[in-house]
Amino acid sequence: MTSSGHKIKVVCRVRPFLKTEKTDDAVVAESNNVLRVTNPRDSSKDVKFQFDACYGPAIGQEPIYKNDVRPLVETIFNGMSATVFCYGVTGAGKTHTIQGSDTEPGIIPRALEHIFMHQERDAFDYDIRISYFEIYKEAVFDLLKSRDSSTTGLPIREDANRRIFVAGLSKKQVTSFEQFDSLYQKACRNRRTASTKLNNHSSRSHAILTVQVQWKDDISEGKVWNGRLHLIDLAGSEDNRRTENGRDRMAESSAINRSLFVLGQVVEALNIGAARIPYRDSKMTRILQDSLGGDSLGMMIVNVSPGEAFLQDTHNTLSFATKSREVVNKPVAHEVVEQRWTVVDRLQHHRGAGAHSRS
Ligand code: ADP
Ligand code: MG
Repeated sequence: MTSSGHKIKVVCRVRPFLKTEKTDDAVVAESNNVLRVTNPRDSSKDVKFQFDACYGPAIGQEPIYKNDVRPLVETIFNGMSATVFCYGVTGAGKTHTIQGSDTEPGIIPRALEHIFMHQERDAFDYDIRISYFEIYKEAVFDLLKSRDSSTTGLPIREDANRRIFVAGLSKKQVTSFEQFDSLYQKACRNRRTASTKLNNHSSRSHAILTVQVQWKDDISEGKVWNGRLHLIDLAGSEDNRRTENGRDRMAESSAINRSLFVLGQVVEALNIGAARIPYRDSKMTRILQDSLGGDSLGMMIVNVSPGEAFLQDTHNTLSFATKSREVVNKPVAHEVVEQRWTVVDRLQHHRGAGAHSRS
C-alpha cells in the first residue's frame, strides 16, 4: 500500500495509556507508517499493519491536523469536498481526535479556526454554513434542533441535479468562530442529553458535522463555488453482540455493523478503483456520496487503544482498516540484549578512548 493515488487515506492513531491502565508494549507505532501489534492468537508473533501514516501515543493533536487534515481543508477553497472519519471501538480516542477538549482541541475546532482565518484573509465573500446530524439505527436526526422522543428521522431525497440531500436538515450560517462554537457546544449538549435518555447511544450513532463554504467568483461571470467539509465521529465499531442482548440492542448492533461494513466496502472500492461503489447500501454513504470519491479527498483515522487488554478489538479494527498486514516473529529478548551490549560496548570503547586522550 502506498500513499500515491489513494482516494481515501488511512492513518492510524494509538492513544496513550490512561492513568487507570496497566502499561505494556502490545501495540507499538514502529515507524511513521507501520504499527506493530502482538498477535492475539499467538503471543510469540507480532502482526505489522501498514498505513499512510501512523501516530503513536506521544503525538498530540497539532501534528495530525497539520500533516494530514489541513491539506484536505485547503481543498474546499478550490470548490472541492473533503471528508474525515474517525473509526474505532468505544474508548479508542475517536471523540478526542475529532472534537478534543478545551485544553487539547481536536480536528473540528482547528478546521473551523482555519476556515475563518482563510475567510478573513481572502477577498471573496464566503458564505459559511454548518449542519450537524447523527445517524442512529439508519435514521437521520438534526443535532442543531433540540429533539424530544417524538422526533422521527429525516428523509433522504434527490434533487433535480440528482444530488442527494437530507430533507429538512437545518443549515445555519456562521460568521465567526465564536458563533460556530456556541452552536456546536449546544448541539453537543443535545447529543449528550439524547444519549443519556437512550442508553448512551452516542457511542452507537454516527455524528456528522458538515461545513459548507459558498462564494461567488466575480471573474468568471458570477459562478457560484461550493466547498464542503464533513467531519465524522463514527459509532463504536465493537461487536456489541458479544456483551449485549435484547432486541433493541441487536437491532442497533446490526445497523451499526452494517453501516460500518458498507463504509469499509466503499473505501476499499474507491481505493482499488472498482467500477461499482456501493454508496446506496447505507444511509451514511448515500448522504456522503458526492463527497466520497471523484475529485473529493477523504481520510479515515483509525483509532486504537494501547495494551494487551484491548488486543482483540484492536486487531479487528486494524484488519477492517487495512488490507496490508504481515505476521512477523516477535523480537526475542536475548537478541535485543545482545544488540544493546554491542552498541554499549562500542560506545564505552570510544568514550574510554576519548577520556584517556583528554587526560
Ligand atoms: P471514543 O470517542 O473512541 O469512545 P474517547 O475519545 O472518548 O474515545 O477517548 C477515551 C478516553 O481516552 C477519554 O478519556 C479521552 O480523553 C482519552 N484519550 C483518547 N485519545 C487520547 C489522546 N490522544 N491523548 C490523551 N487522551 C486521550
Ligand atoms: Mg466518542
